[in-house]
Amino acid sequence: MTLRALPKVGVITVYCGPMFSGKSEALLSDLRLRRDHGRQRFQLFNPRTNTRDRGVCQSRKGLEEPSVSFETIAELHDLIDPEANVIAFDEVQFAPREIVRLIVALRDRGQDVIVAGLDYDFYGLPFPVVAEIANTTQDVHRRHAWCTQCGDRAHWSQLLAQLPTDGGNIVIGDDEYEARCFAHFTPKP
Ligand SMILES: [Zn+2]
Repeated sequence: MTLRALPKVGVITVYCGPMFSGKSEALLSDLRLRRDHGRQRFQLFNPRTNTRDRGVCQSRKGLEEPSVSFETIAELHDLIDPEANVIAFDEVQFAPREIVRLIVALRDRGQDVIVAGLDYDFYGLPFPVVAEIANTTQDVHRRHAWCTQCGDRAHWSQLLAQLPTDGGNIVIGDDEYEARCFAHFTPKP
């Protein structure tokens, strides 16, 4: 019996976890291995935010790749190269929910998709967009950090700064957060 060749379908890969868990590092080394050894071509995007938009994706250990920021899914449609082997998104927790549908469509047409993002916000609640993307695939890498208080495994991101009372944006940066275990995590009310 001759089996009919199946069309190629891509794979969605998720790196998620709290702050300081090495998500961007994992994303960037994944992309580099694909490029340097698999001769794959990738595009890297990040949702546009007020505080982090430098045109690069950087890991704390010093890996760095250019990254294109986007705000809407319509914008992304124009930016995505249908010939690229891999489409990657960093900080995907800030992307609009409609990105899930786009990611599935990219996979279905044969492109691999890699995302990195926080799984829980500073209330201790899941970021819906990250949870939904994780539910589309088996290839989910849940990472942890280390608690700054006791050295135990940390799954939560403690916001140290006060919540703005005027509805303004919270600064997003390494100085505003610490990784905490469940015992030392105090979610914002
Ligand atoms: Zn702890």
